[in-house]
Amino acid sequence: MTDIRSMSMEELEELVLFMGEKKFRAKQIYKWLHKELADDYEAMSDLSKNLRGELLKSCPLYGVREIKRLSSAKDGTVKYLFALHDDNVIESVLMRYKHGNSVCISSQVGCNMGCRFCASTVDGCVRSLTASEMLAQVYAIQKDCGERVSNVVVMGSGEPLDNYEALLRFIRMISDENGLNISQRNLTVSTCGLVPKIRELADEKLQITLAISLHAPNDEKRRELMPVAKVYSLDELMEACRYYFDRTGRRVTFEYALVAGSNDSDEDASQLTALLKGLGAHVNLIPVNPVTESGLKRPGIKSCEHFRDMLLKHHVNATIRRELGSDVNAACGQLRRSHLGG
Ligand code: SF4
Repeated sequence: MTDIRSMSMEELEELVLFMGEKKFRAKQIYKWLHKELADDYEAMSDLSKNLRGELLKSCPLYGVREIKRLSSAKDGTVKYLFALHDDNVIESVLMRYKHGNSVCISSQVGCNMGCRFCASTVDGCVRSLTASEMLAQVYAIQKDCGERVSNVVVMGSGEPLDNYEALLRFIRMISDENGLNISQRNLTVSTCGLVPKIRELADEKLQITLAISLHAPNDEKRRELMPVAKVYSLDELMEACRYYFDRTGRRVTFEYALVAGSNDSDEDASQLTALLKGLGAHVNLIPVNPVTESGLKRPGIKSCEHFRDMLLKHHVNATIRRELGSDVNAACGQLRRSHLGG
């Protein structure tokens, strides 16, 4: 079956020509799928009945089906649990900020990367998502909240760079002027640090923000938290980040989950500042969200502020991430796991 929602305009043109239709039909279909966010062919009123019928037969439209939602009473964050056409389950989050609505999407069902603090990886990666399944999460949420989504972060379940081709397709389509036209500067892709893929991404010369899940100031500590650190050293990772910055002109963001007694000492802060020197980087400090399996402890707010101030003193830009949706299992993978009975 053809995954029509993952198709670029050029591919869609080829498809309609193959079906014996005029080329301009591709633009109409693309608009229905990616601007009007149609979920069925019936809605596509400017296509002939015959064409709609043919499309329905050869290109079934798979969206995402909401099976659960949790809305935060505190800050308007909404966490969605969506079922895919094969009944796999993923989660996505809508976060409301002053600057607009931001949606965090999943890129895989589960994840293979094994980070200790993450609930998404406990059962490994079941499969990667298609571009259309990534788009469908944003579309479903925009339709549900009735407001424009202005930012997308690929930071939910999955390692996006482990699903590279679909990710690139997603980025190009979500920023396409014939679709939602979300500026690439408002797209963030978060990776645990797959060095060769970071270099490849740099060469695509996109304008997206790259966020690195760093979480430790040296190789030894990072290896304890993140198996990927056994494959790529911090030196290699930092070199790849510099390359990304040089090629794209975009500053890299670093995510650092603060774990009490593990990576939150003064010594850790000085090692971190030394590591990031000259990168003009921004560090997001995230007090770790304890996952039952990991046994990691969250530091108190005073320790987090102290850690942040140590970085700022050494001219490393750092903020403590405002905790959104803390009352709705907002940490990556938690809702899905509680749904699966984990
Ligand atoms: S933090 Fe990201 S890369 Fe690491 S296991 Fe979780 S989903 Fe995978």
